[in-house]
Amino acid sequence: MSASQSCLFCRIVAGELHAERVYEDDRVVAFRDINPQAPVHLLVIPRKHLVSLGEAEAEDAGLLGHLLLCGRELARQEGILERGYRTVINTNREAGQTVFHLHVHVLGGRFLGWPPG
Ligand code: AMP
Ligand code: ZN
Repeated sequence: MSASQSCLFCRIVAGELHAERVYEDDRVVAFRDINPQAPVHLLVIPRKHLVSLGEAEAEDAGLLGHLLLCGRELARQEGILERGYRTVINTNREAGQTVFHLHVHVLGGRFLGWPPG
């Protein structure tokens, strides 16, 4: 089975599964998390299927930077850039990764505790 058939986020990229999209371009798609952990909780994902940050290659460096900068612009758009927001990339099981298509969480709109749970 191809990644686009089996992967939840590839199906969102393909438009087969609905998501509340807030941004997209030729390399990334951003949408609201279905189970928000803060007043603002977005996910920014590459259109390309990358399993995790742990499997990204040097050639993905530009794409990884673009994901972070898109997250920053979305934080600005959501009005949380100046107040503060957090970008999170969970990588593999002990970090809590549940969807194995690389995604950047953009969280904000409330005080966020540190260290994370
Ligand atoms: P992680 O635990 O870092 O792998 O994050 C996966 C995130 O994807 C979780 O915050 C989920 O709530 C979110 N999620 C799962 N399915 C969907 C979906 N269909 N639409 C939007 N967000 C989703
Ligand atoms: Zn995928």
